[in-house]
Amino acid sequence: MPELPEVETVANGVNARVRGRRIEQVWTSGKPQTFKSSPAKIAGTLTGARIERVRRVGKTIVMDLRGAEDRPAQFLVHLGMTGRLLVAQPEIPWPTHTHAVLSLSDGREVRFVDPRRFGRLSVLTGPSGYQGPGTEPTTVLAEEFAQLFKGRRLAIKAALLNQSILHGVGNIYADESLFRAGIRPRRQAGRLSREQLARLHAALQEVLAEAIRLGGSSVSDYVDADGVRGFFQLQHKVYSRAGQPCRECAAVLKKITVGGRTTVYCPRCQQ
Ligand SMILES: [Zn+2]
Repeated sequence: MPELPEVETVANGVNARVRGRRIEQVWTSGKPQTFKSSPAKIAGTLTGARIERVRRVGKTIVMDLRGAEDRPAQFLVHLGMTGRLLVAQPEIPWPTHTHAVLSLSDGREVRFVDPRRFGRLSVLTGPSGYQGPGTEPTTVLAEEFAQLFKGRRLAIKAALLNQSILHGVGNIYADESLFRAGIRPRRQAGRLSREQLARLHAALQEVLAEAIRLGGSSVSDYVDADGVRGFFQLQHKVYSRAGQPCRECAAVLKKITVGGRTTVYCPRCQQ
């Protein structure tokens, strides 16, 4: 599943290519599970609208639009497990599992392709705009970050993954930031010290920034805005390394389940 850094990279890539363009025509596959808004509503909202910018909110790609009579609207794209948002020249054949195609004023096409169909497309109209469920992890300040966990009785790993607390943090970056902060994944969130929370805040922002810089580090089926497969792999310290030696202390990394998710940690470096 694409995580925050991948979604950010895709959003930035698409933004650089389509910002300022007008959407002239919309085609949809009509596959019911893909469309959270009806295909007719999506086509009606998008057709003729100008793309003001494309950005990430949580793990959602938000396309800010200006429609007829200057009305604001937003096209929301959630990539799900295997969704891709591509910008392509029209002569390049549509990949199989293409579910939406936006034809732009410059002739190019924005294509949403999703073999497993866990991705979701929807539109929002009205001035309020999409806020996302929780707090943005890349910009939250240390003090507010600490407040988010106050009194919470769940494990810190589960709290990091809870999208209503922080939006966009997935399994990879939760495990990696807990390792860097030296905190065991099962420690109760509300009982962490101020110092531990300060370390975790710094660690989380560090790993996210690093991954965004590297262009994301997804291990799943992921292709960026140009359709180029790839992305550099962040060197994971713990994620998916259970049973292997810790890169810092050589202790064998342990695998447990926290909040239903596979979790890997170092029993020596994390307390
Ligand atoms: Zn270690």
